Amino acid sequence: MERRAQLATNLARVRARIADACAAAGRDRGEVTLVAVTKTYPAADVLSLAELGVRDIGENRDQEAAPKAAEIAAHGVEVRWHFVGQLQRNKARSVVRYADLVHSVDSVRLAAALADAVERGRDRPLDVLVQVSIDGDPRRGGAAGDELDRVVAAVAERPALRLRGVMAVAPLGWPAETAFARLAEVAQRVRDRHPDATVVSAGMSEDLEAAISWGATHVRIGSALLGKRAYPG
Ligand SMILES: *Cc1c(COP(=O)(O)O)cnc(C)c1O
Repeated sequence: MERRAQLATNLARVRARIADACAAAGRDRGEVTLVAVTKTYPAADVLSLAELGVRDIGENRDQEAAPKAAEIAAHGVEVRWHFVGQLQRNKARSVVRYADLVHSVDSVRLAAALADAVERGRDRPLDVLVQVSIDGDPRRGGAAGDELDRVVAAVAERPALRLRGVMAVAPLGWPAETAFARLAEVAQRVRDRHPDATVVSAGMSEDLEAAISWGATHVRIGSALLGKRAYPG
């Protein structure tokens, strides 16, 4: 019960921050979805969050997400699973079984692997975001420049995938405002060609306000909700 109360308190704080950021930006609160990133935390926390009304859950490793999703489903609780981490192609077949939105498609080969996996093992298309590398350094995931255009095209050409928008993580050492301003430009460019690509997944515990001021529709919040992680996940 103590844990549950802690989560409720944290959730109230995060919701207030989101509401304040929307108000400051002149945006409707309904435009921003809170994704609770539960990596390294147990399924019991997902159940508590679901009871508190959080129905969008993010994970970054298939090895952890797949059994957690199965456990939540076994409880008869429905949540939307967001896959937010770097994804290896050999995990595509597992991820398409439970994920509702994959935020981290950053290569032509990964797009193809996901589309193939959907065709073999899923009865409906998979929603995906293309991950943008804001500083062009691919080590933290994401694509930039011409490569980004190629990934967008690779997603758009496969009926098994639905291009829903873009995602980014602010590069280390960058002011969040600068990073998310740049992402907003990229998001607009993608939307000019693909009008259904309306999602902008940006903002984490430290920088959700900056992300919302630059048009984020999905914020991915881990530590501010669940506590500091004992290991990075
Ligand atoms: C862990 C993680 C988050 C959440 O980070 P916090 O700083 O704990 O809020 C968001 N996005 C991605 C891709 C992550 O891996």
